[in-house]
Amino acid sequence: MYDGEGTNLSRRWLLAGIALVGLTGAASMAAEQPPAASASADSMVVTLLGTGDTIPSPTRYGMSTLVQAGGLNLVFDAGRGCAVRLNQVGIRSIKVDAVFITHFHSDHLNGLADLWTNGYLGPPSSRRTTPLEVWGATGIARITASMRDTYIDDIQIRLADEKIPEAGTQILAHEFSADGVVFERNGVRVTAFAVNHGPLIKPAYGYRVDFAGRSVLLSGDTRFDENLIAHGAGVDLLTHEVAIAPKPLLDSPWVKAIINHHTTPEEAGVVFSRTKPKLAAYTHLVFLASERIPPATLDDLVAETRQTYGGALEIGEDLMSFEIGEEVVVRRGAEAKAV
Ligand SMILES: [Zn+2]
Ligand SMILES: [Zn+2]
Repeated sequence: MYDGEGTNLSRRWLLAGIALVGLTGAASMAAEQPPAASASADSMVVTLLGTGDTIPSPTRYGMSTLVQAGGLNLVFDAGRGCAVRLNQVGIRSIKVDAVFITHFHSDHLNGLADLWTNGYLGPPSSRRTTPLEVWGATGIARITASMRDTYIDDIQIRLADEKIPEAGTQILAHEFSADGVVFERNGVRVTAFAVNHGPLIKPAYGYRVDFAGRSVLLSGDTRFDENLIAHGAGVDLLTHEVAIAPKPLLDSPWVKAIINHHTTPEEAGVVFSRTKPKLAAYTHLVFLASERIPPATLDDLVAETRQTYGGALEIGEDLMSFEIGEEVVVRRGAEAKAV
């Protein structure tokens, strides 16, 4: 479903002299990638680790976003391959200070076990010695406890065989059940806010991160939502999910059902116009298609957004990063441009 996008992405990356994602192992990719931008005392760096949906795509991994601020590495959602992408930007699992989950759909969670278990592997000096801390709405403690139970044989074998630190195999879950500040450390504040992913998909939250006067809002999965607009007013960077279907498919019941759980480009444009971020960026790109009808294109996505929004816009790609200082600098591979 992502052939068109994949081709564009590959071309850009190859022009930058970087190997195509998915064709080489993680270890060699880590060496080939440019170093990740680093956050300074008054800036934040946001890196899109995965921008895809449920489809196992070699170019768009599962939903996950890295926010670096105040010396902390915060991971929002842990979709498929997030540990691989973190490795590509030079962040080992033990360097992750906190994980925040938006909701419990599998495409936001299915990389969490990999991220967590990697933390207690490897040379003794780089093994996690403290629990992985995970934030989420009510239910996340049950999920992480049962995940650990699933891997209990691995843990017990490695405790006996490799003498790994037991504390490093633990997961510390922090639950919340309402809008509000859920995390404050090193001057970094994370606020959770409820979003509308559909009446049966609850809990569902987005997050806003504030640090040194800089801010980023991550939509989570949501329909057009006034609560998101209220929390996103004037942020520097607004990363938002989006779903688009080619016109002939819009009347199909299954397409309608999916679109009804997400935000269309025109609706997202209204969100951007009302919140007025310095930069809006799409992530979690849901491109619907059928066997006979191909997906919309990235040009379609931009054109539909432009019906309601004329400001700065980026179509997110895996490993695209944003340095938020006085201005927002976008990096794609070796490129950088200020907006
Ligand atoms: Zn979802
Ligand atoms: Zn999703």
